[in-house]
Amino acid sequence: MDTCTAIVGINWGDEGKGRMVDLLTESFDVVVRYQGGGNAGHTIVNRYGEFMLHLLPSGVFRKNVVNILGNGVALDPQHLTEEIKTLQSKGVEISPKNVMISERASLLMPWHRRLDALEESRLKDKKMDTTRKGIAPFYSDKYAKKTVLAGELFYPEVLKQHLRDLLEWKNLILTGVYGDEAETEQMIDEWVETYCEPLKPFIRNTGTYLADAMWNHKRILFEGQLGALRDLDYGIYPFTTSSNVLSAYAPIGAGIPNARVDRVIGVVKAYSSCVGTGPFVCELFGEEADNLRKIGNEVSGNRPHRVGPIDLVATRYGVKVQNATEIALTKLDVLSKLERIPLCVRYKLYDRETDEMPFPSVLDRCEPVVEYMPGWNCDISNVRNWWDLPKEAQDYVKRIEDNVGVIIKWISVGPERHSIIRRG
Ligand code: GDP
Repeated sequence: MDTCTAIVGINWGDEGKGRMVDLLTESFDVVVRYQGGGNAGHTIVNRYGEFMLHLLPSGVFRKNVVNILGNGVALDPQHLTEEIKTLQSKGVEISPKNVMISERASLLMPWHRRLDALEESRLKDKKMDTTRKGIAPFYSDKYAKKTVLAGELFYPEVLKQHLRDLLEWKNLILTGVYGDEAETEQMIDEWVETYCEPLKPFIRNTGTYLADAMWNHKRILFEGQLGALRDLDYGIYPFTTSSNVLSAYAPIGAGIPNARVDRVIGVVKAYSSCVGTGPFVCELFGEEADNLRKIGNEVSGNRPHRVGPIDLVATRYGVKVQNATEIALTKLDVLSKLERIPLCVRYKLYDRETDEMPFPSVLDRCEPVVEYMPGWNCDISNVRNWWDLPKEAQDYVKRIEDNVGVIIKWISVGPERHSIIRRG
């Protein structure tokens, strides 16, 4: 029996992983977040309402599912306590019975957010367009061994000294490098009291919990954030996130390094979108882009997403590095109004066409080679059966499937839990 499954993004993120996790968690006992933090959100629409989860695993809406924030997560206590409160106020049960935090997760401190914003300001028009949630400074510090582990909250004297030492160093950077204000010991102590203390009941050795769960053949789901093209090592560097989003990293960041991931569900969006700067070969502009953005609701807060046709070069690459064994294709309904559906089938680089993903540094010199397929021109959001999909929509799905070489098992035609076509 399969024990460990991962749900991961194949493209730039925002593929609709949250809705897929929410749908599929009925078949799992444990859902684990293994990387990332408050920088990207998973949108879930269900009977409790519409939610944007940033840190909590998307299994929190299911009774009997245990949700774990693994050691690889950027644990932002302020963000997490607020997220927990919001869900609780809407009647969602969040308690140490169904939410656990790894004692080995590092804390994202207030100075990480500040340093993120200060560095973006320093870069001016060369800024990376980060979410300013402190993710890059956090992971830099983690690798420099200058973070505090959640478990240290249980050892107040150790914690106090550790925080004092880090604060002294961080203030050198805040004031010396950026000419900004120093943080005070009192500010940090109050922050710990307000945002970390309430989390203590959730913090434990989640590694032993997961090892027991695996031993007892519990079904474990690793929930990835962002997508393959944002992976720190395999994505479009430096326009990546600062952690490893790939399924191969899931057991390590989850806290169960000896686990094997049996199934990898890759989530692919029926067209492309990208947030922030960096090469985006298949990008559409003008009216065509505005229409797609509008119908697809491609905006995060006040940040409009860049959009384009499905990028088969990037998608094939994403499927490969994620080691996807099956695919969920989302937002097919968004394409319903298009007369003809564009697909970026290859890239053109220096007058040669390629279907391999080029080295990141030459990506902005690539041009998309676009082909078109006939559109279906009708609403498909109520279709629940593959055979009820118009032939043009079936052909589009099959073309993607043939191209990436992995079965498309689910087709999502709306944001709601039930708006799904199961196949194969
Ligand atoms: P994630 O980061 O991969 O979890 O993606 P998001 O949560 O950002 O999802 C992208 C958006 O698409 C959200 O607003 C979802 O509610 C919405 N969405 C997901 N699947 C579908 C779908 O099949 N059709 C439509 N129209 N919207 C969808």
